[in-house]
Amino acid sequence: MDEVLKLSNSYIALGEHFFQRALPQKVPAANLLLWNNKLADSLLLTPALQKDDALLAQYFSGNQLPEGTNAIALAYSGHQFGHFNPNLGDGRAHLLGELVDTDGVRRDVQLKGSGQTAFSRRGDGKCALGPALREYIMSEALYSLGVPTSRCLAVVATGELINRGLAKPGAVVTRVAASHIRVGSFQYFAARGDIQSLNKLLDYSIERHFPEINEDENLSEEQRVLCFLERVMDKQITLITQWLRIGFIHGVMNTDNTAICGETIDFGPCAMMGIYHEDAVFSSIDEYGRYAFGSQGKIGQWNMARLADCLLLILTSAHKNKDEENAFNGKTDDADYEQQALKKVELIIHQYPNKFDQAYHNMYAKKLGMNAINGDERTIIDELLTLMQSHNLDYTQTFHFLTQSLSDPSQKEMLDTSLSHWYETWLTHLETLKISTQDAEALMVKNNPVVIPRNHHVEEILERCELFLTTRENETPANKKNMVTELVSEFLHVLRSPYQEIETTKNY
Ligand code: AMP
Ligand code: MG
Ligand code: MG
Repeated sequence: MDEVLKLSNSYIALGEHFFQRALPQKVPAANLLLWNNKLADSLLLTPALQKDDALLAQYFSGNQLPEGTNAIALAYSGHQFGHFNPNLGDGRAHLLGELVDTDGVRRDVQLKGSGQTAFSRRGDGKCALGPALREYIMSEALYSLGVPTSRCLAVVATGELINRGLAKPGAVVTRVAASHIRVGSFQYFAARGDIQSLNKLLDYSIERHFPEINEDENLSEEQRVLCFLERVMDKQITLITQWLRIGFIHGVMNTDNTAICGETIDFGPCAMMGIYHEDAVFSSIDEYGRYAFGSQGKIGQWNMARLADCLLLILTSAHKNKDEENAFNGKTDDADYEQQALKKVELIIHQYPNKFDQAYHNMYAKKLGMNAINGDERTIIDELLTLMQSHNLDYTQTFHFLTQSLSDPSQKEMLDTSLSHWYETWLTHLETLKISTQDAEALMVKNNPVVIPRNHHVEEILERCELFLTTRENETPANKKNMVTELVSEFLHVLRSPYQEIETTKNY
C-alpha cells in the first residue's frame, strides 16, 4: 500500500510558529460520495488508487493518512466583517500536504470538516454535508466558467450526525488549492510583531507564487516587497472582475478568506446573482451588506491595504536593522524612512481604483462584443447596468439574449423592452468600431455563460442529498453514494459546459 499516495509538505520547513501538527479525527462510517476523477488525474493519482473507493474513503475522511503524511492546521488571523481577530487558524481543516500537478504546479491538499485543532475555539471542527456539497459544486462550476478557484477532490460522508441547530449528516470535503496562504497569514505574524516569520512567509510566498520576482536580480529588497504587493493586488483584481463577470457573490471576503495566490477559496454562504443589483446579498451573516455583489471590488482594495500594513512592517524593520548596523552614524532617520516607505506602499494601493475600473470595464466590454475600452464604451456599459438594475432584469439571461440576438434577430424579442433604445446605441457603436456582428458574437459567446449554478438548483440538490442520507439510514453505503453522485453529476454535466446549450431533461 506504500507509495500509493505520497504527499510532500513544504510548510513544515517554515517552522512550528506557522502551524500546529494535528491529526484528523476518526469517523465512524466513511463513505466516498463524490470523487473528482478529472482533478485526481491532473494530480497524477494512480488508476489503481482511484478505483479503490474504500481506501479513498479512508484517506479523504482522515481515518487513515497516506504514509509519511505530516498533517497540520495552519495558523492565521483575519479581519472578519471588518473586525480584527488575531486568533483564527484552521479550526476544522487539516492540510495533508502537497501534490505537483500535470502543469508542474504545487497544490495543497486539505481536508475540511476533519475535526478539532488548536484553532477550533468553540467550534466542533466538523462540516455538514450540505456545505461540503456546495463547495464541490460551486468550485467545479467556477472552474468551468474560467474563474481562478480552488477545487474539490472528494466529499466523504462521515456517518455522524452533527449539531447545526438540527442534526445534520457530517462530511469531510477535500480542497485542492494553489496554496492556503492568506492575507490573514501575514496578519498573524504582524499582530505578534514577529518580523522574522513575516519575512519567511514573504519569501515562501514569492518562491511559490511569484518566482519571477526572485529571478530579477536588479530588484532591491524594498522593490521585491513592493513588487509582491503589486502582483498579489493584480491577481485580486483579476479574480474579482471574473466573479463579477459571471455574477458570483463570494459572501465572506474576510482577510482570512483572501488567498495570496488569487484563487477563490472558502465557499461559505456564496451565491449567484439572478436579477442584477449592485446591493445583492444572499448571506444572512452579512447583515450590513459589506460583501454585496457591487461592493466586492472596493473590498478587494480594503483587503489589499491590510496586506500592505503587514508588508510595511517588513520594510521599516529592514531599515531599522540597517540603521542599527550603521549606528556609528550617530543619527537615525527612522521616522523619515517610515514616512517614505508608507508613501511607496500607498502609491501601489492607490493605483487599485484605476486598475480595477479599467479591468472592470474591459471585462464588460468583452461581454458586449468589444475588445477593450477606448471611449464611449464605458457609458454604454454603465447605462446597461443601470437599466438592468432599475428594471429588475436577470443578469445571465440578459447577456445571453444579447449574445444570441446578433445571429438570431428573433432572440431580440426575448430582451426586456426597457433595453430597446440602449440596444440601438450599442449596435450603432459596434458599427462605429467596425466590429462585425460575427466577431462581436464570437467574443460574447466566450464571456457570457448560458448556464450558471443558480441558487435554487444548488439548494434543491443539497436538500435532496441530505434528506436521502438522513431518512434512508438503512440504505447501503453504495446506494447512498449512487444517489448523491447521480444528483450532483447530472447538474455538473451541464455546469461543465457553461457556454453551450446542453440537452438535459432538467431546465437548469
Ligand atoms: P470561515 O468563516 O469558514 O472562513 O471560518 C472562520 C474561522 O472559523 C476559521 O478559523 C475556521 O477554521 C473556523 N471555523 C469555522 N467553522 C468551524 C467549526 N465548525 N469548528 C471549528 N472551527 C471552525
Ligand atoms: Mg475561512
Ligand atoms: Mg468557511
